[in-house]
Amino acid sequence: MAIRKIVEIGDDKLRKQCKPVEKFDLRLRILLKDMADTMYKANGVGLAAPQVGILRRVVVVDIGDGLIEMVNPEIIHAEGEQTGPEGCLSVPGRSGVVTRPNLVTVRYQDRNGDEYEATAEEFLARAFCHELDHLDGTLYVDKMDREIFPDDEEYGAAGADEEDEQ
Ligand code: ZN
Repeated sequence: MAIRKIVEIGDDKLRKQCKPVEKFDLRLRILLKDMADTMYKANGVGLAAPQVGILRRVVVVDIGDGLIEMVNPEIIHAEGEQTGPEGCLSVPGRSGVVTRPNLVTVRYQDRNGDEYEATAEEFLARAFCHELDHLDGTLYVDKMDREIFPDDEEYGAAGADEEDEQ
C-alpha cells in the first residue's frame, strides 16, 4: 500500500493534457493500486492520475458501490442535466455548484487493455465527468455555477461534505 501525495490547485500538473496509456504493464497496475489507496485514505469518491502528478489517462472511482478502474476513458454519449454540489481532493476546503449531464456512457480500457463501456446516472455520472475533466486539465472550479459557502441556503454544510470529494 502506497499513499501518494495529492497535487493541489495552483500546480501546473493539474492543467496539462494527459497522454493515453499505451503499456498495460506492472507500472500501470502499481499506479492503479496507489491511486485507489490514496483515494480511500483521503475519503474521496474518485481520483485522476494528474492528481498524484502522473500525466496519463487513468482514473479510479468508488462512490460506495465498488472500485472502478478506467484507463483511456472517453465519454461517448451524454444526456440530460443535473445541478448539485461538487468538491475535489485537489481543491481542499472548498465546494461549488456544478451542472453536469445526468447520464453518460464512457468507453474505457481496464488494466489489461480490454475495452468496456459503462453507463452511469446521477452521482456516478457526475463522478465520471469530474474525473475525465481532470485528464484534460479542467477543474470543477472552471465550470461551477457558484462557490458554496457554509451559510449557503440550498447546500450549506452538505455542499462542503469532504466525503464527496473527487
Ligand atoms: Zn477532482
